[in-house]
Amino acid sequence: MGQSIVAVVRCNDYTPETVYDAIKRGVNLLGGVERFTRSGERILLKPNILAGDAPEKAVTTHPSVLAGCARLLREAGARVTFGDSPGMESARSAVRKSGLQAAGERYQAQVGDFSNGGPMTSPQGKLVKTFPIAQAVHDCDGMINLPKMKTHGLTRITGAIKNLFGCVPGQRKALYHIQFQNITDFSNLLVELTQTVRPRLHVLDGVLAMEGNGPRSGDVRAMNVLVLSEDPVALDATFCHLVAMSPEFVPTTTLGHQAGLGNYQVDRIQYVGDDLDTLIQPEFKIIRKPVYDNASYTYYRWLKRFVASRPVIDRKLCTRCGLCIKACPVPEKAIRFRDGQRGEPPVYDYNLCIRCYCCHEMCPHRAIHKKTPLLSKVLQLE
Ligand code: SF4
Ligand code: SF4
Repeated sequence: MGQSIVAVVRCNDYTPETVYDAIKRGVNLLGGVERFTRSGERILLKPNILAGDAPEKAVTTHPSVLAGCARLLREAGARVTFGDSPGMESARSAVRKSGLQAAGERYQAQVGDFSNGGPMTSPQGKLVKTFPIAQAVHDCDGMINLPKMKTHGLTRITGAIKNLFGCVPGQRKALYHIQFQNITDFSNLLVELTQTVRPRLHVLDGVLAMEGNGPRSGDVRAMNVLVLSEDPVALDATFCHLVAMSPEFVPTTTLGHQAGLGNYQVDRIQYVGDDLDTLIQPEFKIIRKPVYDNASYTYYRWLKRFVASRPVIDRKLCTRCGLCIKACPVPEKAIRFRDGQRGEPPVYDYNLCIRCYCCHEMCPHRAIHKKTPLLSKVLQLE
């Protein structure tokens, strides 16, 4: 695999015109919009719409990024659709509440169908021969991925590769969590999925990023940057460099490279645009250690109690809404209300919990945190 090109573009705010100019500059640095669409093609934009949260919370890709890309594509003569498969609520509601519907409408971008889907053959197919993929992806000629720059409890970051999990519609995502419980298998699944849906371009929204307890309960941090690349591995590696973390701590980058998806090594990435070094924020809150592979717990189950990180609930913040229970993919439910009553926050059964962090991802009140046991910290596992 040759060198990968990554465009780094400073962007200090979400004023629509500023974002459009920044995206256009980034796309031009990669060779121009004609490299990514032809007139008359149907292009699908895939933002992160985890939930219907307001744009300033930095949970979702900002509407100005969607609008900027849609405008550029429309000017090139493309027809534009967009969408995602949110965690819990309906796609229709999440798209409206996140402000993305209004942004799309300004450039005649239609909301695609992410509720239904059909099979798509995985070209690598080592783990999965055929993925169920949202109808909107089947209906397009090409896709442009618009991830949000956020931390993630399971995969460390949610960048280009993790964002594509939303191409799998509805509850099938939960079943994949059950089927691929350890982080290596789950990361390989995401890599194979990326090789299956093959976006033409990835545009990372890092103007306002989320640090700490992401992807929904973290804190907003201004990173003032958009990052564009055809290589999802190089794009995620650049995310890591911007937060002063080794890309080797993110399994999807190393496994993605092994699978031929892209490059994460600095000597294999050519940076164009603004100076990356001036945008790095070493104080960005993220765990700068490898993701511990919970596969070893299969053989040392007793060890799990003492070293495995786990989700915990802050009872002062919990409103007893029950969304975490709904999100839990384990059939017996690893989190539930004691005696079925909502008088107290839900409780975990850590023997059942597969550490997928779907509950953490879905909690709308920032009440769930990832807790690392002391022994794990001493052993520097997490
Ligand atoms: S989703 Fe959050 S607020 Fe709702 S019950 Fe679970 S922990 Fe409490
Ligand atoms: S309790 Fe939370 S982390 Fe554990 S399996 Fe259920 S959703 Fe996943």
